Amino acid sequence: MVDHTDPTLAERSSDTIFGAIVRGEVAADIVYENQHCVAFRDVNPQAPTHVLVVPRMPVTGLQEADEWESMLLGVLLRAARKVAEIEGIEESGWRVVINVGEDAGQTVPHLHLHVLGGRPLSWPPG
Ligand code: AMP
Repeated sequence: MVDHTDPTLAERSSDTIFGAIVRGEVAADIVYENQHCVAFRDVNPQAPTHVLVVPRMPVTGLQEADEWESMLLGVLLRAARKVAEIEGIEESGWRVVINVGEDAGQTVPHLHLHVLGGRPLSWPPG
């Protein structure tokens, strides 16, 4: 297992605002957290529920996930479902989005899942 208190990892995560949030240095509206991740409300919500699930471990994004980090994705998806339960949208439907790289509009280089719901979501996304 990964040691989340490893100072090298902590240093890497300080590169982004999400690193600062998962370490508790910057305030966020936290909806759920566990040993591996923190879920907090997006500051620019695109739906009534718009929550970001962010691993405590500072992975840049899906483009750089190694073997352990790929396994971590399962943990993050379970956390996304937990968020949907907490938000009361598990039955009505919800969407998980991971933006990867420039064309997808990834703006923060710390892996994060968007959990969106609370209204009908159109498809395909823009
Ligand atoms: P992405 O474009 O996929 O990289 O998503 C980054 C998301 O982070 C955007 O939806 C932003 O609105 C959101 N965001 C940026 N800074 C913060 C913050 N301090 N707290 C909560 N959400 C943030």
